[in-house]
Amino acid sequence: MQKSIHILFIIVFCATISIAQTKPEAIRVIMIGAHPDDCDGGGGGTAIMLSSMGYAVKFVSVTNGDAGHQIEGGGSLAKRRMAEATEAGKRFGVTYDVLDNHDGELTPNLNVRLQIIRKIREWNADVVIAPRPNDYHPDHRYTGVLVQDAAYMVAVPNVAPDTPPLRKNPVFLYFQDYFQRPNPFRPDVAVDITSVFDKKVYAMAAHESQYFEWLPWIGGYANEVPASKADRLPWLTKRLSRRITPEMMQSIEKWYGKERAAKVKNVEAFEICEYGTQPGTEEIKRIFPMLGK
Ligand SMILES: [Zn+2]
Repeated sequence: MQKSIHILFIIVFCATISIAQTKPEAIRVIMIGAHPDDCDGGGGGTAIMLSSMGYAVKFVSVTNGDAGHQIEGGGSLAKRRMAEATEAGKRFGVTYDVLDNHDGELTPNLNVRLQIIRKIREWNADVVIAPRPNDYHPDHRYTGVLVQDAAYMVAVPNVAPDTPPLRKNPVFLYFQDYFQRPNPFRPDVAVDITSVFDKKVYAMAAHESQYFEWLPWIGGYANEVPASKADRLPWLTKRLSRRITPEMMQSIEKWYGKERAAKVKNVEAFEICEYGTQPGTEEIKRIFPMLGK
């Protein structure tokens, strides 16, 4: 009797493993931002859609956010933001990692480059999404540089030898931005996130210290934040609606067709980085199966 239970357990265990291996989680996505709310804005809608399809999606913040507030700061703020990021991760359906580097003091140094290489390797990432190195904020700029610096090294065994290298260089993409110099963002991929935009806003609202306190204060619109919690989500929805540029619209038409493009209200766009694996149209459709649907 004991033995047959044992065999049954092994069969169930093996079956579970084989089901886990054949789930459509072949694609593993890691988004890397400077602060514990950056990935959310750049790729949160796409993350919601991919994770609902069974993809493995991780957000990483390269800094702990300990400078992002007008009253609080240091360790207690970092702790608060960690809790906010964890809650946001739950709402997005992703795991959220926060690296313990100071906010506002990030530099493109070897130590942080190695941290990022390890994160990409540990996640066994097929796709890495990060900011371009063109940005008003030095932490954003250097996160862009740091991820570019990791883009080849993730496959080099002698670099960070404590973490096994990737056998295939991932596809590297950039989050969308509106900066024009030295070159404007090119929307190679545009994802229609209209159907999940409300969910995205709800998930981003988990970062209370940011969207209802710090960003309104530094942006000079603190007096516009609704006092009642019930009014805050509709207010944030308006604030987070992003402009769709003509280039983004062209990309939407390319991927979804004109008829559908006319109905699109919210978009997340990505540019292909030159340094990783270069995906063709079929590979892009494999990474983003929602395109055209
Ligand atoms: Zn940021």
